[in-house]
Amino acid sequence: MALYVQKYGGTSVGSVERIEAVADKLKTFREQGHDLVVVVSAMSGETNRLIGLASQIQAQPNPREMDVLVSTGEQVTIALLCMALDKRGISARSYTGSQVKILTDSVHTKARIRDIEVSRMREDLEAGRVVVVAGFQGVDGHGNITTLGRGGSDTTGVALAAALKADECQIYTDVDGVYTTDPRVVDSARRLDKITFEEMLEMASLGSKVLQIRAVEFAGKYKVPLRVLSSFEDGPGTLITIEDDEAVEKPVISGIAFNRDEAKLTVQGVPDIPGVASRILGPISAANVEVDMIVQNVAADQTTDFTFSVHRNDFDKAEAILQRVAAELGARGVAGDNKIAKVSIVGVGMRSHAGVASKMFDALAKEGINIQMISTSEIKVSVVLAEKYLELAVRALHSEFDLDAPEAVSES
Ligand code: ADP
Ligand code: ASP
Ligand code: MG
Repeated sequence: MALYVQKYGGTSVGSVERIEAVADKLKTFREQGHDLVVVVSAMSGETNRLIGLASQIQAQPNPREMDVLVSTGEQVTIALLCMALDKRGISARSYTGSQVKILTDSVHTKARIRDIEVSRMREDLEAGRVVVVAGFQGVDGHGNITTLGRGGSDTTGVALAAALKADECQIYTDVDGVYTTDPRVVDSARRLDKITFEEMLEMASLGSKVLQIRAVEFAGKYKVPLRVLSSFEDGPGTLITIEDDEAVEKPVISGIAFNRDEAKLTVQGVPDIPGVASRILGPISAANVEVDMIVQNVAADQTTDFTFSVHRNDFDKAEAILQRVAAELGARGVAGDNKIAKVSIVGVGMRSHAGVASKMFDALAKEGINIQMISTSEIKVSVVLAEKYLELAVRALHSEFDLDAPEAVSES
């Protein structure tokens, strides 16, 4: 008998039928004697619908009011799920983030959890009740509703599991685990039995949205046993582990992540003198634009090109800032491209293998794909390429690094 924190994502509670199916599943766990704290997302599409309503009124709505708005989606699903449990004779109670309470900082739309009060949940568990908590939301020290960023219900699940010292945090979703790459893009993607926190963190931050980055960070920091599973079918899912030491021979690459939300900007012909990088990136960061990769060429004629990438939504804002900065610096001009994508190979096995990056570049060259930017760390290599080549690149790398499922039939 164990205490599980189970999180069910948007598709898993996307209709009344799906909510009833989750209730059936929970009933089985209760019959096995397990204690359950269940975190649910809003019904799929609901958070986007709410954001759409706001945008019809204001382009940049007040973040506090945004949080009041978008947190409503999860309030619907907690109540419906408790009704479905009640119908099955299972005693359950629903709680919003502020009722639990999940205390956060005051950074609306991307708040961080500071503390969780567990006493109320413990009382319910002791009384034999299933505790159903709204994902994605919390409350700040002044009683304002906050939300944790898109995909934030994963983080609610992990944080509750850490606070309650649960035996496992189980993230139920619409795929049956973490795959070598997004199975909706590459048919031959293979489910991983295990992946390390370190690799999962890279995969999540490089674009694999199967888990929110903060959820993985949290799970790693508090050593929460974490598993990704399907709510649609039974199976072992994928365990996120601290160290995969049992593996006799580790694959060099565990997975391929990609991100379409990128854009790049170049300030051309800037004087190659101290302080230029700071004069270019200072105003960018002052405007709250996050910079991802940065490339600066070696100067040939006392000038250099300075290129960096940003989120595609920030492209126009960043370009306008650069036009001003370029004029101030006496640069030749500004060029931009918002049709780029980033593809990354990730694996702890890279540490002990040489030549991984060149194997990646070879595979892309064979497909005639031009690499525009490169960045590396100990366990990943990322490249920026034209968005139109994204799927081709991911497929080529997937087979180059022997990740294809054995039974998969090549499409090409
Ligand atoms: P939920 O609504 O349950 O939170 P998400 O849509 O946030 O579900 O995450 C699940 C989706 O993540 C899958 O449908 C899949 O398309 C996508 N995904 C991206 N990369 C991967 C990966 N490496 N392994 C599994 N799923 C992935
Ligand atoms: N409903 C929120 C979102 O769509 C949170 C979540 O699903 O995790 O981002
Ligand atoms: Mg999600």
